[in-house]
Amino acid sequence: MEMHTTTIQEDKGDGIFHKAMNSESKPVWIPGPVIIGAGPSGLAVAACLKERGVPFLMLEKESCVGSLWRLKTYNRLQLHLPKETCKLPHMPFPPEVPAYPTKKQFISYLEAYAKHFAIEPMFRQEVQSAIYDARMGFWRVQANESEFLCRWFIVATGENAEPVLPNIEGISDFKGSLIHTSRYKDGADFEGQKVLVVGCGNSGMEISLDLCNNDAQVSLAVRDKLHILPREILGRSTFCISTWLLNWFPVKLVDRFLLVCSQVILGDTHKMGIRRPKIGPLEQKKSTGKTPVLDVGAFSKIKSGKIKVTNSFPLSSCLH
Ligand SMILES: Cc1cc2nc3c(=O)[nH]c(=O)nc-3n(C[C@H](O)[C@H](O)[C@H](O)COP(=O)(O)OP(=O)(O)OC[C@H]3O[C@@H](n4cnc5c(N)ncnc54)[C@H](O)[C@@H]3O)c2cc1C
Repeated sequence: MEMHTTTIQEDKGDGIFHKAMNSESKPVWIPGPVIIGAGPSGLAVAACLKERGVPFLMLEKESCVGSLWRLKTYNRLQLHLPKETCKLPHMPFPPEVPAYPTKKQFISYLEAYAKHFAIEPMFRQEVQSAIYDARMGFWRVQANESEFLCRWFIVATGENAEPVLPNIEGISDFKGSLIHTSRYKDGADFEGQKVLVVGCGNSGMEISLDLCNNDAQVSLAVRDKLHILPREILGRSTFCISTWLLNWFPVKLVDRFLLVCSQVILGDTHKMGIRRPKIGPLEQKKSTGKTPVLDVGAFSKIKSGKIKVTNSFPLSSCLH
């Protein structure tokens, strides 16, 4: 089969891929990887390729880098992990940024990172399909009206980018407003209102705290067993302590240590309606991928009764 393509030797930051795409309707041959997604992962890969002089094309469906952070997160969000564990390769956070950067600071960091490495994603390009042509030995990547051909294809589309709204029994009769966390911005919008937060992960816990701080009456629906850990132990990041301990001790022992510390710092979560799984937090993360909740203050509101935990499922009884 004869195929007509446009071949681009190298994008030196002058947007040559973009021009080629605009001027031709033929498939565009990329002499390097195509990366989908201009979030932190995509940017990190792109910077490493730039450092080695490897040309690439980055496709992003939104019109900015770090779109998850910019468009789908709430205002009070800070990194749950310290900045040194969240920095991207070859560029640390500026020293004036606090240990747990705010959402704004994290977005500024991502923008500065893209600028520093001259990463120019092609925005508003949603990849619809990517098919490996085994006979020819390359990928055919379809984005909007364009087709790209490449030998390497890197998917950096994230694990939280798409909202998932479960089918909640009785929800069709619910008269109030229903929003997914990706559209939640600020507790001030709910002042004085009764709010049910469904799901007790890091986002659910922090949004409950935000609502509570803004005088909403908050109930938190907790279905599964989960681990809540303090964000810090004796002023040190729990995450950093855990990874350091894992250099010397087995997971089970580090888990035991974390659970004793949690008991001392937070108290008994079970008494508050939040049951812990049989396996420890790190073992659970390893075997199921489920991240423990790092508490940033919500648990004390639960203990004081300001956030009410409900374990009653189905939720229809709570929806009035
Ligand atoms: C509320 C919240 C708090 C978090 N807090 C932390 C934290 O404190 N620390 C931490 O390390 N992580 C945290 N995370 C996890 C978060 O997933 C990471 O911070 C980070 O954003 C993951 O980067 P990523 O590049 O893998 O994915 P994303 O940031 O999700 O980026 C994926 C990109 O791919 C684009 N994309 C998706 N599909 C397509 C397509 N078909 N075509 C083109 N583009 C596409 C998306 O538009 C997006 O820009 C948090 C997440 C949330 C939601």
